[in-house]
Amino acid sequence: MVLKLAIQKSGRLHEDSVKLLKECGIEINNNVKNQLKATAANFPLEVFFLRDDDIPQYVEDGVADIGFVGENVVYESKKNVKVAELLGFGKCRLSIATTKNDDYTGPEFLQGKKIATSYPVLVQQFLSKNNIQAEIHEISGSVEIAPSIGLADAVCDLVSSGSTLFMNGLKETEIILQSQSALIQTPELNQEKNQILQKLLFRIQTVKKAKS
Ligand code: ATP
Ligand code: ZN
Repeated sequence: MVLKLAIQKSGRLHEDSVKLLKECGIEINNNVKNQLKATAANFPLEVFFLRDDDIPQYVEDGVADIGFVGENVVYESKKNVKVAELLGFGKCRLSIATTKNDDYTGPEFLQGKKIATSYPVLVQQFLSKNNIQAEIHEISGSVEIAPSIGLADAVCDLVSSGSTLFMNGLKETEIILQSQSALIQTPELNQEKNQILQKLLFRIQTVKKAKS
C-alpha cells in the first residue's frame, strides 16, 4: 500500500513541497523532466505532479489521497477535502486593492463597483458577509492591470510583498484571506493509508517544530 500525494508540477509551491518531503527524510527521484509521477525510495509514497488548481478535485475524487496546495485554492474550489495540517510555506494574502488615490474607508467603498479577480467565490463570500453588492469580473491572469485599462474599479488578488500592486498604481486596502500551503486529504481514507498519513504528519510536525 502507498499513499498518493499530489504536489504542484512547477510554480511557487513546487520547490518548497519537494524540500519539505526531503526534510521529512523522503527522497523522490524527480530528475526526469515532464515526469507526471515519482515514487519515494524510502517511504510508502507516490507523488503526482499537477497544476495547483487541479489538486483539490483530484483529492476529493480520491485519485490522490492527499495534496499540498494553497489554502486560497482549496477554499476557492469548494471541494470536499479536509485541511489536515498547515505547512508554513507559500504564505500570501488574498487582498482587495484599489487605485492609489482612492479613499477606501471600508467594504462599503465597493458598493456598485466592478472588481476584477481570479477568486470569484472568495470575493463573493466577502461581499455577502458585508452586505455589499458589486460586480465581479473574473479574469485568469494579470488581474492588477484591470483598473488601468478601465476594466474594473478594484481588484482582488494574491499579494506577498505588494510590489506588483505598487507598480500598477494600486494599494492594498483589505485582506480577505491569509493563506499558506496546506496538506489536504480525501474525506475517506482507508485504515492502512491513514496510518501512512499519520506517520507523514508526525514527521511534518517535527520539521515544523525544529524551525519554530
Ligand atoms: P499552476 O501552473 O500550477 O496553475 P499558478 O500560476 O496558478 O500555477 P503560482 O503562481 O505558482 O500558481 O502560485 C501557486 C500558489 O502560491 C498560489 O496559489 C498561492 O497559494 C501561493 N503564493 C504565495 N505567494 C504568492 C504570490 N505573491 N502570488 C501568487 N501566489 C502566491
Ligand atoms: Zn494555478
